[in-house]
Amino acid sequence: MDEKKVREVIEDFKEIVLMSSAMGFDITSGQCDLIIEALEKQLPRKPNFEGDGYAPNGTFVYDTWICPSCEGYYEVDYDDYVYCPQCGQKLDWSE
Ligand SMILES: [Zn+2]
Repeated sequence: MDEKKVREVIEDFKEIVLMSSAMGFDITSGQCDLIIEALEKQLPRKPNFEGDGYAPNGTFVYDTWICPSCEGYYEVDYDDYVYCPQCGQKLDWSE
């Protein structure tokens, strides 16, 4: 999914929600939050790294990465997903 497009859709959607409620349409904020939350998960976020493990050759490595959305723990080098398997957050693995 195109990141720029997703950001635009989120902004447009927020406006639609505001306009709709101003016009008296009954859109519950919970439903809107859910839609915005789902869209925001399409925007890649960097995983957080934790741990102070060392590889057999002595170089410093992280043990785990933590999902920035649901805070699920995964093992570095074994569980590098494009999307978090728990919450669907798109992940940014760039340095
Ligand atoms: Zn997650």
